[in-house]
Amino acid sequence: MTESEKVYCDKCGEEMVALDAEQEIGMTCPHCGWGWVTSFSEAYESDVTDYSIVISANTASMNNVKIISEYAKVNYVQAKKLIDMPEAVIFVGKASEIIGVKEELLKNNINFKILPDFPY
Ligand SMILES: [Zn+2]
Repeated sequence: MTESEKVYCDKCGEEMVALDAEQEIGMTCPHCGWGWVTSFSEAYESDVTDYSIVISANTASMNNVKIISEYAKVNYVQAKKLIDMPEAVIFVGKASEIIGVKEELLKNNINFKILPDFPY
């Protein structure tokens, strides 16, 4: 950290330290323990969990087939097979990738779940 980026504790005036040197997810006071996490939406960027998107009970409409083929990176025939399965993993990725896929699936009314539980 450079001199200009120094932050001092509101409670005791001690110099604050970053919670994580790589990712600026928050600051904490080494003296009194006061601190904060930058924000919820930025916290997921440091989440290293691999999440799986599992689809189930969807109809193999053209729109669904197109979307599933895109995220599962398979052709339309294979995408239709995935949709017809009781459950199928179509995407595995980090939280920052999962968020975009989740939004797209919700928008298109596709039934899915995320494993393990996705907290964002
Ligand atoms: Zn303090």
